[in-house]
Amino acid sequence: MSTSYPHLLSPLDLGFTTLRNRVLMGSMHTGLEDRRRDFPRLAAYFAERARGGVGLIVTGGFAPNVEGWLSPFRAYVRCASLAREAGYDGVEVMGSEGYFINQFVAAHTNRRTDRWGGSYENRMRLPVEIVSRIRDAVGPDFILIYRLSMLDLLPAGSSWEEVVLLAKSVEKAGATILNTGIGWHEARIPTIATSVPRAAFAWVTRKLRGEVAIPLCTTNRINTPEVAERILSDGSADLVSMARPLLADPDLVRKAAAGRADEINTCIACNQACLDHIFQRRTCSCLVNPRACRETELRFVPAAQRKRIAVVGAGPAGLSCATVLAERGHEVELFEAGPEVGGQFLMAVAIPGKEEFRETLRYFRRRIEVTGVRLHLGTRAGAEALVAGGFDEVVLATGVVPRDPRIPGQDHPKVFTYQDVLLRRRPVGKRVAIVGAGGIGFDVATFLVHEPSAPGEELAAWMREWGVDDPAVSRGGVVAPRPSPPAREVHLLQRKAKKPGSALGKTTGWIHRTALKRKGVEMLGGVNYERIDDRGLAISFGEKRQRTRVLEVDTVVLCAGQEPLRDLEAPLRAAGVRVHLIGGADVAGELDAKRAIEQGSRLAAAM
Ligand code: FAD
Ligand code: NAP
Ligand code: SF4
Repeated sequence: MSTSYPHLLSPLDLGFTTLRNRVLMGSMHTGLEDRRRDFPRLAAYFAERARGGVGLIVTGGFAPNVEGWLSPFRAYVRCASLAREAGYDGVEVMGSEGYFINQFVAAHTNRRTDRWGGSYENRMRLPVEIVSRIRDAVGPDFILIYRLSMLDLLPAGSSWEEVVLLAKSVEKAGATILNTGIGWHEARIPTIATSVPRAAFAWVTRKLRGEVAIPLCTTNRINTPEVAERILSDGSADLVSMARPLLADPDLVRKAAAGRADEINTCIACNQACLDHIFQRRTCSCLVNPRACRETELRFVPAAQRKRIAVVGAGPAGLSCATVLAERGHEVELFEAGPEVGGQFLMAVAIPGKEEFRETLRYFRRRIEVTGVRLHLGTRAGAEALVAGGFDEVVLATGVVPRDPRIPGQDHPKVFTYQDVLLRRRPVGKRVAIVGAGGIGFDVATFLVHEPSAPGEELAAWMREWGVDDPAVSRGGVVAPRPSPPAREVHLLQRKAKKPGSALGKTTGWIHRTALKRKGVEMLGGVNYERIDDRGLAISFGEKRQRTRVLEVDTVVLCAGQEPLRDLEAPLRAAGVRVHLIGGADVAGELDAKRAIEQGSRLAAAM
């Protein structure tokens, strides 16, 4: 078969069984593992991914009983035996990310003085015995993956010598495959967020090549077949683990194999609907694929009756709605005032570290072609034209307009909106005050302090920025961060007395806050905006408007939130047209792309 992904799609012979390709679906907790009544949903979720062609699926979150260290072998070995009995082809032992086993291995946490602590030989006894006893219990023809923490990203983490020793010992004890673990959850270095460069840790797995004979699987931020193919073809690993990319698109492998990679719905590593949900004890899903973990409930079935539907606005809400409607067989016309589709995502892609959002735009552009949506770019739809169009129904996905904060002196030429900065690229001075510290305020600050890295230098620059090093040189792979100097002096302001950024994403907010602090951004809460003039922005603090201070800045950027844009609703309703509102046009408060895409898809599934 001729394919663009010869390595990715080649089988892997494990001796007693053969994997059909090199994609391992990494283990992910979805929140559906805990209650028996959710098992049919979990089964449907796995079935879609199995049909999509992955080589091997590692399920998530079925932990053995780990109460009391004295009896862990009862728990791990029994769990593996039960898995075999239940028809599983193998198990993965989680030896990384700072979980139980990892805590024994690293001196960072292991303070024991008996035969399970002290020397490295003692500290690694637990994983080696677990692997060896599982192998004894399950026999030779059962896949046993050991997830080895190759880079702890903690100062008292393992040295490279120790990693190699553990890898060899685990191999000898009977592991079939070594998977890569990167960073403890406690590590203050991002490992999977969107700002982490693609395949940023493949070099760690590659270091282990030649030390062991069993296949090595690499992981973290591998989200497209191109990236996976590159890693496999340059010899970094034998397998790639993809977890979130298969939430985003269960058919990733099948589409790659069929030469339809441009139709893949790519994971943008936002964590907003997967990891953030899990940390909030909600069922996992996916921002770009709201059907993830809801396969039984959110279904796009052919429409009983074909309708002519107009969708106004091609931001995330309108794009998802229009393409699902067309997929279901409706005749859909999509109107977009701007020259291209994407809405606010066209600004998001300008933010350093959010380049991945381009993939969502590519996906929807292709989806429009595949589903046959009739797209009208550069067309601001008016109520009259929509009424004259004779549509059965109209969906308003017209988004938002920036909120006017009404600060005295706001008409000064040094004042820009975030759209002026990100879309129109108006020239911003060296000293800047940002009004509003929500998601967009943080993103604009990131945009303004960042100097682009030289081409090809992105990974090295990112490693310096966060203090990631070769574990053969620095224990645990960490050194002091060496951030590059900021491009501008930035003050990020909000009226609430709270810490700015406290409402950002659960698993990613700390990354944005840390990155901006390192760039010297001054974050102030409890601010009143007094006036803007030639000197800059005058502010005071608290209800009594005390401690007046003038921020001497060249530019003030307004990021004060947004209001819904729904000027078409009233005239359309008055003309008797059936109207629906989605995304920002519906509710602007706490709007994000997750809600916009889900709302668009759900409406389209029901029309
Ligand atoms: P919009 O994206 O605002 O789209 C509305 C569209 O309608 C526009 O293209 C507009 O031109 C068009 N339109 C309006 N009126 C008409 C008309 N009469 N005729 C034709 N077309 C019309 N969200 C996240 O979840 N995660 C993030 O990390 C994230 N980062 C962001 C970063 C930035 C810098 C920005 C600005 C936003 C970010 N967002 C993020 C927010 C996210 O982009 C929005 O929540 C989302 O775009 C809202 O989608 P929407 O379709 O409702 O509206
Ligand atoms: P936002 O998160 O609601 O933040 C608006 C900011 O403006 C707040 O800091 C608010 O703080 C301030 N503000 C509100 N009214 C104001 C007024 N009248 N005068 C001055 N300041 C005012 O909105 P956003 O930043 O525009 O983002 C829009 C949406 O996009 C958000 O829902 C966000 O979740 C989403 N988004 C998400 C991300 C992400 O990384 N997940 C990134 C970008 C955007 P005070 O009221 O305290 O002043
Ligand atoms: Fe990827 Fe975001 Fe979807 Fe999670 S929610 S799978 S990070 S696109």
